[in-house]
Amino acid sequence: MRHALSIDVEDYFHVAAFQDIVAPDDWPTYPTRVEANTEKVLSILADKGVAATFFVLGWAAEHYPRLVPMIAGAGHEVACHGYSHQQIYNQSRERFREETRRAKAILEEQAGTAVAGYRAATFSVVKDTLWALDELAEAGFLYDSSIFPVHHDHYGIADWPVAPHRLRTPGGAGLVEFPISVLEAGPLKLPIAGGGYFRLFPYSVTRWGLRRIGRSGRPAVFYLHPWEVDPAQPRFANARMLSRFRHYNNLERCERRLRRLLDDFEFTTVREVLAERGLLLPC
Ligand SMILES: [Zn+2]
Repeated sequence: MRHALSIDVEDYFHVAAFQDIVAPDDWPTYPTRVEANTEKVLSILADKGVAATFFVLGWAAEHYPRLVPMIAGAGHEVACHGYSHQQIYNQSRERFREETRRAKAILEEQAGTAVAGYRAATFSVVKDTLWALDELAEAGFLYDSSIFPVHHDHYGIADWPVAPHRLRTPGGAGLVEFPISVLEAGPLKLPIAGGGYFRLFPYSVTRWGLRRIGRSGRPAVFYLHPWEVDPAQPRFANARMLSRFRHYNNLERCERRLRRLLDDFEFTTVREVLAERGLLLPC
């Protein structure tokens, strides 16, 4: 069973955890780490011979134009993480349409290929923002990987199907959804496949969870951010305690865990996994 590996490419100051203390207008004033951190992730993947999907933030691609060519040049899939990293539920439909198309155009120009995949900032495709799927289909995306089938204070549609599937958008268009992977344990759906959860739980929990998902016959999509392999990033001491915990917990363990994960499981791009399942045509 091949699983999908995804990297959401953004800098440490873009994240939702700090959005109440970091204004987007100030982003250019923070020392950037995303290029160096993405290079670090690329070198880990090269060591292990793994291809991944990089959902790149449009703002980051525009401001650091080496990023996308570096990712595409190493043979990975370039996909879209929106433009501004604002959650969809904090945007009007018009703004979402405009900035998503803007991000897609920047990425396609820089990558030199069509961009098929989308992942929302903070998994913000929720019940109230399912209209975003219509906008994605209309903008020419073939798949979305934004819906997190869990209960959480910032995201999630708890009763959403857990396996990758074709869907009809509310407006009737076709789109493929690869929900963020959860482990079903009785009535519970446990988020074990990336990000803060990967850093929070011991590695053995992630390994156990991914093995169980694989044995149930479905591929998982695992996600991580370049800033998660950067324990030396500047720290926001004035952020809320929960936000600091979610962002900084176990950063120093993350690279080692990622290397183990890549040894223990077989990964490839999101697009490739969806093609293997017959949900998309191969590239
Ligand atoms: Zn993000």
